[in-house]
Amino acid sequence: MRVLILGGTGEARELAKELVARGEHVVSSLAGRVARPKLPDGEVRVGGFGGPEGLARWLTENDVEAVIDATHPFAERIGANAATAARETNTPLLRLARPGWTEEPGDDWHWADDLEHAASLLPKLGARVFLTSGRQGLAAFAGLDLWFLIRCVDPPEAPLPRRHEVLLDRGPYTVERERALMRRHGIEVLVTKDSGGAMTAAKLTAARELGLPVVVVRRLEGRRRPETGSVTTVQDALTWLSGTRKGSPA
Ligand code: NAP
Repeated sequence: MRVLILGGTGEARELAKELVARGEHVVSSLAGRVARPKLPDGEVRVGGFGGPEGLARWLTENDVEAVIDATHPFAERIGANAATAARETNTPLLRLARPGWTEEPGDDWHWADDLEHAASLLPKLGARVFLTSGRQGLAAFAGLDLWFLIRCVDPPEAPLPRRHEVLLDRGPYTVERERALMRRHGIEVLVTKDSGGAMTAAKLTAARELGLPVVVVRRLEGRRRPETGSVTTVQDALTWLSGTRKGSPA
């Protein structure tokens, strides 16, 4: 079976590994944003398809029998593109997205609808901010006269807040390291997207232990892909694939 995985996440790599091990023909697609991405097992293609039309063409030309959209919960456009292309080519499509994080006793979380909303909450929460929302969209924080530790995999996109330090790093992280990092920089508040998963969850535990508030940007997921079936685990995606063939209902 020829499967296209829209990737860029740990789940996408895990799924590719499982499918390759089962002898399936799998192609993983990466957007090409990260300079040195962690590559999945099996065939990989890199770069945009050229909108939903380009993706539909690619599905047809490459005889794709099923698509798994395992992109990041905060990737905004690719999910809608995949839904359109799958509908047009009658290709079964499944969304694989890990669940979001849930607040635990001792947490002081402040939910935000987007990065602009997150920025508006910061002045009353702390003056030294640990910003872990990724390298895109940081213009939302640029007007704030607070100090920021900005951690991302590749250099962040300007404009950035005037007072900041950039830390280039990638998970997984440990609670000990996160706690030490926050202490060393005198962090007073953490900003994160509700990305979910274990790879980057240590910062939440460290913030809880240090009694720090956390601004959590909520997902838009539910509103974006109402027509696409979705699962939260690689195992469930494999089960779905085994019952799926092109032309069968998704
Ligand atoms: P996006 O807004 O959904 O996508 C923008 C455009 O990038 C899409 O229209 C598509 O271009 C291309 N694209 C996105 N994902 C692709 C993929 N897997 N393969 C081929 N083309 C892809 O996404 P984004 O927020 O820029 O994120 C880009 C990638 O980084 C995603 O694949 C995602 O899994 C990963 N990522 C995102 C975040 C985040 O916070 N946004 C965090 C970690 C990882 P065309 O229209 O030309 O096809």
